[in-house]
Amino acid sequence: MILRRGSGLRHCPFILALLLLGSCGTKSEDAAGGHPGKLRPVNLLVVTIDTMRADRLGCYGYAKAETPVLDALARGGTLFENAAAETPLTPPSHASMFTGMNPNVHGVRNVGGFVLQSSSVTLAEIVQEQGWDTAAFIGASVLKKLFGFSQGFALYDDQMPKPGLSQMTREYPERPAEEVVNRAIGWLNSQSGKPFFLWVHVFDPHLPYEPPAPFDKKFEDPYDGEIAYVDRELGRLFAEVEKKAPGNTVIAVLSDHGESLGEHGEYTHGVFLYDATLRIAFMLAGPGVPAGVRVKQQARTIDLLPTLMDLMGGTAPADVQGTSLTPAFSGKEVPTTYAYAETLFPKMNMGWSELRAVRTTKWKYIQAPKPELYDLEQDPHERNNVIATNAAEAQELKQQLQSLIAVHGSGTSEKVQTSLLDQKTMSQLKTLGYLSGFSSREYELTGQGIDPKDRVGILNTVQVAVSADSKIPRPKRAQLLREALQQDPTNPSLYYHLGGELEKMGQFREAMALYKTGLEKGIRSGRLHSRIADLYLREGNKTEAIASYEKAAQLNPADVESQSNLATAYLESGRVPDAERAFKWILATGEEYPAAYNGLGLIAIGKRDVPAARENFEKAVRLDPDLVEAQLNLGLIYKMMGANDQARKCFEAFIAKAPPRQYAQIIPQVKQELELLR
Ligand SMILES: [Zn+2]
Repeated sequence: MILRRGSGLRHCPFILALLLLGSCGTKSEDAAGGHPGKLRPVNLLVVTIDTMRADRLGCYGYAKAETPVLDALARGGTLFENAAAETPLTPPSHASMFTGMNPNVHGVRNVGGFVLQSSSVTLAEIVQEQGWDTAAFIGASVLKKLFGFSQGFALYDDQMPKPGLSQMTREYPERPAEEVVNRAIGWLNSQSGKPFFLWVHVFDPHLPYEPPAPFDKKFEDPYDGEIAYVDRELGRLFAEVEKKAPGNTVIAVLSDHGESLGEHGEYTHGVFLYDATLRIAFMLAGPGVPAGVRVKQQARTIDLLPTLMDLMGGTAPADVQGTSLTPAFSGKEVPTTYAYAETLFPKMNMGWSELRAVRTTKWKYIQAPKPELYDLEQDPHERNNVIATNAAEAQELKQQLQSLIAVHGSGTSEKVQTSLLDQKTMSQLKTLGYLSGFSSREYELTGQGIDPKDRVGILNTVQVAVSADSKIPRPKRAQLLREALQQDPTNPSLYYHLGGELEKMGQFREAMALYKTGLEKGIRSGRLHSRIADLYLREGNKTEAIASYEKAAQLNPADVESQSNLATAYLESGRVPDAERAFKWILATGEEYPAAYNGLGLIAIGKRDVPAARENFEKAVRLDPDLVEAQLNLGLIYKMMGANDQARKCFEAFIAKAPPRQYAQIIPQVKQELELLR
């Protein structure tokens, strides 16, 4: 009775392991672009607050704010009044902070689909090479290890809660600031006294806006409540840092981008390049940072790395595009006049044109099918496009933008290829003989196509129909999305949203037809194929399911969930060598995926290799004690080996955790086994 069937394996929880040994090797000095020089032994704490608008903090002038901790940090340090992100998207923006480069140079261009390559040199790598203890504590799966941000961190803690009910309404699994801060404090208290670099990422101001008590009731706008909650939690972190190393820690706090909150017809972030999402909070405090200074010159996220290096007495790698902001402390001019910005989200997720922009303290030029120019001093909310009356300024900024785009590549159009895995991982994976059909997606950025600002109606429909707290009945939501799809038939996200609603209503045939229409319309996405594959599996059509999962895997080899479903389908179809390759592939991506170990355990059983089976089942159970199939399989192995005590524990865990309906036939058998062992 080895358990190999059933949906349990296919839908087993997506778990991220705590990888204590996350460091993936250091770069040669050459790759690091020269030596930074010997750094002063100061500690670094970088706090990135996701989705936090600067103008919702007290220190940035918001009267309704309750942000005493950040306000005090700003008073005791330096605040950049005019700070901008390079992109309104989480992974690319963080990649800019930690490499000092614009997204078109570091290559992380969107949320998912891109990995920060191991050839990049990050702040963590630079200080780790000089002996700093390094650790990162991450608030959401969008920055998980797979995306390459763990480079240079001895500890990269990205363990998220399992996708249970509380995570169901969330776009990305996340954990609250309290937990992130607790873990960071735990790490701080385990430190020996070597200088450290600690990165703490909190995700709470991102959707959904659900602050915990008492912040849920205290604020008219729950978004403000999330920020107040984060502020309180950061107070605990700063107090511990001060206790650990009094006066010897440089603290940097930045948002990765803002939130539109309805401005320009956008509710969240990612589609547009207005200041609602590009303007960020940016403050520094600690040794070398003067107190009470407010800098008016523009500061960019790419300036973080060179500024911190400067404060440590070192120099940034030569190819860094940012600049040290320290001269601005005393009012000297810094070369931050032009900030580059881009978003490929409208292109890749919505089928519209990408946007690029260049921003100065006075102007913003947005390159779109219908270009825009805003006078940020006169019109900070960017309501009046003044391009018609300021042709000379627009022309000058357009040229600046062209030169920023041309840093890597050609002038008017740029070809972008998705990079779903690190190149090094990729070549290792090739040795598994599993990569023959893999093709990355290529996008051509021409600045042409559907202008996102002409599609705010679609954005509005998606917001109304899809938001977790939508009161609209499901059939009405589907109808709204169908209407949107008629207006915008090449928008990939509408297929996912509408298909999702249809599936939730049990209209599987309609969902399948919809996804196939998407493919006919030229939408090439792994996600569409994996949805189709799931539906085939539901019909019991394994052959078609396998074919579709294979297409999904070719388009996105980093989608371990589809890979795991594919491997299981292979296994159930008797294609054991294929299944083994696929399970090994999942683990080779660096993802500690418990179901893959369970699968390899089953394969080992087939080969009568009991020690290997035991080892794999043990790993699966250790990674996820709730993976009941692995619990049962491990129990059976223990029983075979005569380890009755251990077998009993596994069977008991299985009975305690297995959903009774799903395992109605198996549970009585396991109970019988237990009786025999007692
Ligand atoms: Zn973000």
